[in-house]
Amino acid sequence: AKASGRNNYQFFREAMNQTAARHFELESSLRGALARNEFELHFQPIMDIGTRRLHAMEVLLRWRRADDELVMPDHFIPIIEENGLIVPIGEWVIRAACMQSMRWQQQGMKPVPLAVNLSPRQFMHRGLIESIRRILDETGIAPSLLEFEITETALMQHGEQTLDILGQINAMGIRLSIDDFGTGYSSLAYLKRFPVKKIKIDRAFIKELESSAEDQAIVAAIIALSDSLQLSVVAEGVETEEQYALLQRYGCQYAQGYLFSQPVPHATAQLLLPRS
Ligand code: C2E
Ligand code: CA
Ligand code: CA
Ligand code: CA
Repeated sequence: AKASGRNNYQFFREAMNQTAARHFELESSLRGALARNEFELHFQPIMDIGTRRLHAMEVLLRWRRADDELVMPDHFIPIIEENGLIVPIGEWVIRAACMQSMRWQQQGMKPVPLAVNLSPRQFMHRGLIESIRRILDETGIAPSLLEFEITETALMQHGEQTLDILGQINAMGIRLSIDDFGTGYSSLAYLKRFPVKKIKIDRAFIKELESSAEDQAIVAAIIALSDSLQLSVVAEGVETEEQYALLQRYGCQYAQGYLFSQPVPHATAQLLLPRS
């Protein structure tokens, strides 16, 4: 028992060292990643449930490393959120999304709004409003073709300042939606104070929708209440026709998930756009 105790400890220590080393390695290569042009955007359709047509696309960041490894955001967003690199990288995402939208329009595609994720740190950064203005100016896209997704938790962190920034974004004509709704212990009545038009129900409530009477009750209630507050609803993580049918029955307007498409690179996303 003593020997295996020591083995466990050694195993634990090695695992810790490996995690720390991996983190350190990621962090230092992330510092130059923007300059090396290693980031790319993927796009995931958000469908109109009633018409089954494309409504918008969410923009999701990927990190293509020199060895061609594609790193998913959950592995690096927390690191750059922590060290502040999210500010320049997040600005790059907004600009790249706007440039892509402009390119599609120039190629004769009918544009749909692109929904960009804003992290809490980015959201609280003083230069945000100015940089959004500059990007809209430079790229010339209509503000109505850009949306921002902000998590419920980020909104709840800083009272008045949050309201002020959201007000400025809204005044520019950019729509805002609340991401990961249902995970942050706030109420729709409270969120109604913010100039927000759309909420995205977190995948956690959709995953077992077919089998869980509880999730069905929660999702149906969120949709009904949103409707009475004039908020539109996107269900995230829709993977099956059964989930889709239930959401349609509850009156949900929009759905996003693997049932329609995974996030795809721009060349594939382009094929989903109607011609104008
Ligand atoms: P999110 O904003 O909640 O984005 C939705 C995530 O769910 C995406 O993961 C998407 O690929 C995944 N997803 C979509 N449909 C399904 C489905 O049917 N089943 C399952 N299992 N998953 C589905 P992804 O691309 O790995 O992004 C993870 C998170 O990273 C995002 O969660 C968002 O919080 C963050 N993120 C991604 N891009 C950016 C960015 O440009 N800026 C910031 N600040 N955060 C980003
Ligand atoms: Ca999102
Ligand atoms: Ca989400
Ligand atoms: Ca999420």
